[in-house]
Amino acid sequence: MKREILGIQFDDLDREEAARRGAELLDEDQFHYVVTPNPEFILASEKDPEFQRVLNEADLVLPDGIGVIYSAKILGTPLKARVAGIEFGEDMLACLNQRKGRLFLLGAKPGVAEAAGEKILERYPDIVLCGTQDGYFKDEQSVLLKVAAARPDLLFVCLGAPKQEKWMARWGKHTGARLAIGLGGALDVFAGNVKRAPESWQKLGLEWAYRLVREPQRAGRMAKLPLVLVKAAGEKVKRK
Ligand code: UDP
Repeated sequence: MKREILGIQFDDLDREEAARRGAELLDEDQFHYVVTPNPEFILASEKDPEFQRVLNEADLVLPDGIGVIYSAKILGTPLKARVAGIEFGEDMLACLNQRKGRLFLLGAKPGVAEAAGEKILERYPDIVLCGTQDGYFKDEQSVLLKVAAARPDLLFVCLGAPKQEKWMARWGKHTGARLAIGLGGALDVFAGNVKRAPESWQKLGLEWAYRLVREPQRAGRMAKLPLVLVKAAGEKVKRK
């Protein structure tokens, strides 16, 4: 079931349900893409109709960020759970490993995708890492050809939003992959360059606070986040 939050149609699934749906998509023949919007995406999509369309046309729209969960609650259309993109990504890696499938990692600074790939293969040895490419390329066509030639089943697209979502919507079906996931900074985490918050912080919904402490340069970006809650409250009042 879909639930609309400030213009974005989210899938109301918990982590297990999302993983099951992802596995089904990975087994189907055609191309699918998954997006994991957080409050920053919602604010950006209000000013960028193409971004909003691309998010809403995704095969799965998973709420990554406690701000999305709070906004849904304020609007009176609560979502079951936060599904962090990186956790969905992990679940799809486990699934690909069972199928001995092919993985392509696209994005992040030069060298990061390779390092992430090595770490992933230590944990999922049956995956075939069929290619990597950093995210600072100029020629979109040649990157597309490189991805397609590698014949991936699963593709992580980690270029930051909205670039990664627009890339998947525009080029995804030409890659031959069955499933692409927009995963922001996930390759930096898989490579071990950036740490996620401890589980206790995650459970308290404080992953954003941990990130702010570790990466204070994000303060400007994150200062906008409470705006989403204010907008949700405004929308609620309008609907009454
Ligand atoms: N990135 C990229 N190409 C670009 C811009 C960004 O590959 O043109 C990468 C960047 O190196 C980082 C990721 O995209 O690995 C985005 O990280 P960000 O922190 O913005 O994403 P979040 O984790 O907040 O979704």
